Amino acid sequence: MSRLVLTGARVVVGDGTVRDATTVVVDGERIAAVGPDADGTTSIGGPRPDDRAVALAGRTIMPGMVNCHFHATYHNLGAAPAPFGLEEPMAMQVVRAVRNLERLLLAGFTGAVSAGAPFAIDASMKAAIDRRLIRGPRLVPCSRDISTTGHAGDTSFPAHWEVGALGAIRRSDGPDEFRRSVRLEVKEGAEMIKLFVTGGHGTVGPRERTELTADELAAAIEAAHQRGVRVRGHIANKEALLLALEFGIDIVDHGDGMDHECIERLVATGTPVVPSMLFPARFLASMGGGGLGFTDDMRHDIDAMAAILPAANAAGVRLVLGDDYGAVNFPHGPYADELAYYVEEVGIPALDVLTWATRNGAEVLGRGDELGTVTVGKLADLLVVDGDPVADVNVLRDADALLAVLQGGRLVTDRLPPDPTTSTRGATWTPST
Ligand SMILES: [Zn+2]
Repeated sequence: MSRLVLTGARVVVGDGTVRDATTVVVDGERIAAVGPDADGTTSIGGPRPDDRAVALAGRTIMPGMVNCHFHATYHNLGAAPAPFGLEEPMAMQVVRAVRNLERLLLAGFTGAVSAGAPFAIDASMKAAIDRRLIRGPRLVPCSRDISTTGHAGDTSFPAHWEVGALGAIRRSDGPDEFRRSVRLEVKEGAEMIKLFVTGGHGTVGPRERTELTADELAAAIEAAHQRGVRVRGHIANKEALLLALEFGIDIVDHGDGMDHECIERLVATGTPVVPSMLFPARFLASMGGGGLGFTDDMRHDIDAMAAILPAANAAGVRLVLGDDYGAVNFPHGPYADELAYYVEEVGIPALDVLTWATRNGAEVLGRGDELGTVTVGKLADLLVVDGDPVADVNVLRDADALLAVLQGGRLVTDRLPPDPTTSTRGATWTPST
């Protein structure tokens, strides 16, 4: 197979460092060399006749990004509070999932960790992507929502829809039912279990309310870990956050209510947090910015998170991207808007947000040893960007500036500048039959 030799680029390594005038060589599915221009090829035996060489001065190579809170099926018809597309038949939700996963990949996200999907749709999406029936990110499939009867997610839907029985929510009461629900979801292919630990953060329930008992939470986490799967929790108050950490939860979603004590614990445990601030911020803006009871609550939560997040980042909390695309007034598509939000509205350095998107994301994907940095030997999930996202992260929002998306060395998107000396192409993505 011909190698792809990318020369003269700025490289955002993914670990918080940058290298200029660098050559990256992709051989098969992996990164074969990273070095100063010329060195990259000479160190592995010099250029070969069938190499595809691409000069990338003024362009940037970076790892593929990872979205760590993704709902492939989410869709909003504008009929709040009936969100998420659950009113549609399962087959239509599958079609949406296929489309949204492809859009995510084409936006530069080569990995995704789902935060929940109805009808075990995620497990089939993962299989379809792995078999190359469809294009999509490397996917960690998530369960239905598991929580107690009457929790905020449960009461979002009229009882006569019966979504609690077969759709998005597996209602469970008592530790034994939580264990059984976890095991049923794992049997259906979930590698991540989603619990609604509290209300708040875009749900109809108050953030102060913890939705399940300590023994239910502990039982769910223990049962998941016994089966070798992880647990993520919708958490929007401090007490629940600390309790979930004590029981060994694997991902904290939202994390509203975080304070310095929480930061200390999160650094000690290494547990990732998905602040997912863009959905509430966009929703609030669409509702006029405040003035209603629940919008004032959202304003308070957003301001509080914006105030604490730079400290969490500086302290070394493992922060990642991902949000509730498809929820009310927050459509799927512009997935890189998050990076700009954290840089411009929260004041996080661009290079740090790029690390959230790449190395940290790969770790949450469970593939930190194989993905997430531009490192020799790792899988070649890479982006080529026309510009410098460190100088202006908004370049990642521009679809035309994404010159290439590589996934395992395959060019999913190929708008690389032509090379005058060779005509060979890199390996491209083709569907299996
Ligand atoms: Zn979510």
